[in-house]
Amino acid sequence: MTMKKKGWKDITEGNIIDKPATALEYKTGTWKAFRPIWIKENCIQCKFCWLYCPDMAIKMKGDKMTGFDYEYCKGCGICAKICPAKKKAIEMKKETEFEK
Ligand code: SF4
Ligand code: SF4
Repeated sequence: MTMKKKGWKDITEGNIIDKPATALEYKTGTWKAFRPIWIKENCIQCKFCWLYCPDMAIKMKGDKMTGFDYEYCKGCGICAKICPAKKKAIEMKKETEFEK
């Protein structure tokens, strides 16, 4: 017996539990297990990290990357993965290294 594949009309509707567009109200930075560290001298200012970060946690001044907003960064590591700088410009460190 072959199962019929589901189409998009068969999928249960999703719901927004709270109000929409509330990302700024929730400081999700406490979720992270890893923290990106910017190595300024190796940065070529390509802005790929800004483009790919899913949380808009890359700080910018004009068109220059200036570091991370750790209140929103979830530590996914995408920025470090896509950073094309020849010498590493973003290093992921364990969050436990920053505990007091
Ligand atoms: S680790 Fe993830 S959330 Fe944090 S700055 Fe990099 S891409 Fe954004
Ligand atoms: S992706 Fe890397 S080289 Fe490009 S702006 Fe970000 S830190 Fe700098």
